Parts: sequence; C-alpha cells; structure tokens
Amino acid sequence: MLSREEIYRFLIDVVGEDDVSIDVADLFAYSMDASMRISMPAAVARPESREEVAEILKWADEKRVPIVPRGAGTSLSGQAVPVKGGVVLDMCKMDRIKEIDLEDRVAVVEPGVIYDELNRELGKLGYVFPPDPGSAIACTVGGMIANNASGIRALKYGATVDHVLGLEVVLPGGKIIRTGGRVWKSSSGLNLTKLFVGSEGALGVFTEIILKITPKPRYCGLTIPVFQKLEQALEATVEIMRRGILPSAMELIDDICIMIINSVLEEKLPIGEALLFIENDGYSERTVKEESRMVKEICEEKGARKIIYTTDTDRIEELMRLRHTLANMLSKLRGENIPLNNIQDFAVPIGSIPEAVRELKAMAQSHGRLMAIFGHIGDGNIHLGTAINPWKEEDRKAGAEFARRLAEIVVKKYGGTLSAEHGLGVTKASLVELEHGDTIEYMRAIKKVFDPHGIMNPGVMGLLEVPRDEFVYMPTRVAV
Ligand SMILES: Cc1cc2nc3c(=O)[nH]c(=O)nc-3n(C[C@H](O)[C@H](O)[C@H](O)COP(=O)(O)OP(=O)(O)OC[C@H]3O[C@@H](n4cnc5c(N)ncnc54)[C@H](O)[C@@H]3O)c2cc1C
Repeated sequence: MLSREEIYRFLIDVVGEDDVSIDVADLFAYSMDASMRISMPAAVARPESREEVAEILKWADEKRVPIVPRGAGTSLSGQAVPVKGGVVLDMCKMDRIKEIDLEDRVAVVEPGVIYDELNRELGKLGYVFPPDPGSAIACTVGGMIANNASGIRALKYGATVDHVLGLEVVLPGGKIIRTGGRVWKSSSGLNLTKLFVGSEGALGVFTEIILKITPKPRYCGLTIPVFQKLEQALEATVEIMRRGILPSAMELIDDICIMIINSVLEEKLPIGEALLFIENDGYSERTVKEESRMVKEICEEKGARKIIYTTDTDRIEELMRLRHTLANMLSKLRGENIPLNNIQDFAVPIGSIPEAVRELKAMAQSHGRLMAIFGHIGDGNIHLGTAINPWKEEDRKAGAEFARRLAEIVVKKYGGTLSAEHGLGVTKASLVELEHGDTIEYMRAIKKVFDPHGIMNPGVMGLLEVPRDEFVYMPTRVAV
C-alpha cells in the first residue's frame, strides 16, 4: 500500500501543487456528501484535462488506489463518500461549456459544469437541459449523469438518461473511450452510453458529455388543487395520467410538508391533507389552457375543495422554487433541526400510487413514526421523509429497519424501485438484492470488464460487496 506522501508526490507531478491537497480540513470537506456519512480520503486532486485524469487512472490501477470521482458532493446516498479512502477526483475545474449547436440541437460540455449555469446559457438561446433536480443550483452535469438524476420535470421531459447522446470516458488503466455521438438516435451495437448513465463513478470518469437540448416551452399554467384527503389527491394523479394528459410537473405535498413550509416561510400554503402542484406547459397557449382546464375538472371530480391557478411565469417559478427547497426545510420535521438524511426515493407503477401510499402511511403510523410524503407523484416517484437522529444509535438502527420494511413493500408487493433518482450509493447497497435478485451478478460482471481491480468508487451499488449501513456520520461538532 502506498503512503500518503507517495500519493501526494505522484498527484503533484500530474496536476501541480495548487490542485492537490492532503490538508486535514480539505480532506474532511471531501469526506462526505449530503448523506452525512463520512470517510476520509488520502488525498484530493483537481484535474483540468482528460490527459491528467488518464494519467491518474493508469497509476491508480497499477497501484490499486481507490478513486472516487466527485462533482458537487450533493449525493443523498453516499456515492461521493470515499468509503475505502484513496483519492477523490474533484471534477469541478473541468467546467467548460465547449459548444452549443442549435443545428444539431446539442451541447458539448465538461462534467464539472453546474446544472443551473448550463441552463442560464441555454436559456439565452431559448433552450433547456430539462431534468431539473432539487439541487440544480449546485450539482454538476457529471454528477447528474453518474446518478441518472432527475426532478420535477422528468414526468414530461425524462430523466438525465434521456438527454445524454455521447460520452468521453477515462477507464481504469488510463484508456480513453468515446461512446455515442451527436446523432439523436442509433441502433448500432450495445448502448454503452446508457450503461454509463447511472454508473455512480464505478466504471470510469466522464471527461466530455454530449447532451441533447430542448426548446423552452413558451406558455405555462400552474394548477394547485387543495384536497381534504390525501387519497383524493392520489386518485386525481392517476386519473390525470389515465386520461392521457401529460403535465410538465405533478408534485405532491402532504399536510406535514404544508405545516413545515408554513412555519418556515413567509409564503403560506392553503391547508389541506394534500396539495398537488400541476404544471402544464407547451408551445401554444390554447393547448396549455385546454390541458389546465381538463386538470381542474378532474381535480374537482376527485373532491378538490379549492383550486388556485396562475399563468404568471414569475409566480410559477416562485412556487416551484418553494417545492424545490422543501427537502431542506424537512430538517424541522421533529422540531430539533435534525438533518433529514434518509429521504426515501421510491417509485411504484402509476396505477398503484394510491394503494401503495396508503400502505406506506399505515406502516409509519403502526411504527409511531412521523413521516412526510411528497414527491414527483405523476411518474410514481414517492419521497418519504422520516427524521432520524443519526447521532443516536438506537434511533439510527430503528430508522434503518423501518426503511427496510418500507422497501420490502415497495419492491415486493408493488414491483417498484428502491431509487427513482437519487441512486443506491452505499447507503442503499445493502438492499440491492431485494430489488435485483440474481441479476446483480451480471452487473458485477460488467463492473469487472471495465474495472478489473475494483478501484472505481468501491462500495457503491453492492457491485463489489454488499456493505451494511453502519457508516460513521458527520459529527455534531468538530474538535479543532
Ligand atoms: C437539497 C438536495 C436536493 C436534491 N434533489 C434531487 C432531485 O430532485 N433529484 C435528484 O435526482 N437528485 C437530487 N439530489 C441528489 C443530488 O443532488 C443529485 O444526484 C446530483 O446529480 C449529484 O450531483 P453532484 O455534482 O453533486 O455529484 P456528486 O454527489 O459529487 O457525485 C455523484 C456521483 O457521481 C459520480 N461522479 C461525479 N462526477 C463524475 C464524473 N465526471 N465521472 C464519473 N462519475 C462522476 C460520483 O463518483 C458519485 O458517484 C438532491 C440533493 C440535495 C442535497
């Protein structure tokens, strides 16, 4: 095993002294992500080119040094935590938007570009890269691809995977490969581009990305129905989808979320057991109006007692931003300012939404747990937030057991998935066999083809081993 000094010397030769750190404060900052799990790396390097990345991966493969690529570190499942130490490759210096080509309708970018910054540039030309995660202000396009992230507009526009046309990837050993290209469709060979999307840094490092870009819709209407019963909101969701309407967003907020938002913000939401935020957008005002009218009609049929409607784009943005920041506010769930580090990210088939939510809620009640229910409900993506105190062992263990019970219902009874958008990372790796059964062996075989020595982000998705969720959590205070 190499010493920290040897690792440091090598990295300095490749990226220069200013872009390597073994300073304990830096290492601590890079030891965690938004999952709050921590594990210290040996060093951090900030490469600026594919050649530098290739040189590091060649050396790391020879010396068996774990490598964890990192964007902004906003992952919620610990996939940016260096659980086996090694080198964190901070990709944020590779943040150029190399090209926006409106004829081919593509953008070519480096992985460290921040989602909102890319969209600011695309927006000036009337275009958008639409997946829109709640962390849009900070997360990088490389991190989004590795997690196959998405968000409130995935219902109509798809997840990240639907927008990636091509990748340049540096593999362990230093080989640089290109997959896909600028064409919008191809049936040529196995689709390696899609394989790399969602690979959580476990197969290689992206150094260039070709994205499909989408013209920004010109018109938008936001309908907010207020329901007395959560079930009415869920039934309205299923009915809207059943009648063939495709909103650009359909978000659920339950009474616990409403209470928290109203206690934190000046903006006060109407009180009910549930609200839906249903956004319809399009290129013709008439279509948007017609779809919004149909949505309103369905919500009334299902029992909405009040319906707010606006077409004011600033107001829509304000309300959607409020929905975006909800995850942060949920730390108030127990009134103790406990960071909510266990937001579940399940998805079930659309038709099963009402029954599945009913059962999950009943499970929380029978365990005496306060559980916030929200999410991108239109595509079946249910977020469940229960505040556990990670610094209390008993609470942590009970929280993990509760999460497992929820997962069993979602996967076994409803044929759902453990993660609709956040990824499995290390925190959900112990559940991987619950959803994937024997097929995990094929995933492990693929990992071996690209990364025979297992240096790339070891621990994620149970590709090398199945870790148990017994990680060290971010301390409440750091001694200095
Ligand atoms: C408040 C909040 C809200 C969120 N809301 C959403 C949401 O609505 N939807 C959603 O999907 N997620 C959400 N997330 C989770 C997270 O923000 C996203 O998954 C995001 O895409 C991660 O991007 P990042 O740049 O922070 O990547 P990181 O967390 O740094 O890394 C993510 C993964 O990508 C890998 N990686 C990074 N760069 C590269 C590269 N160049 N090559 C290969 N692998 C790489 C890492 O190894 C890691 O496995 C949220 C997180 C927070 C904190």
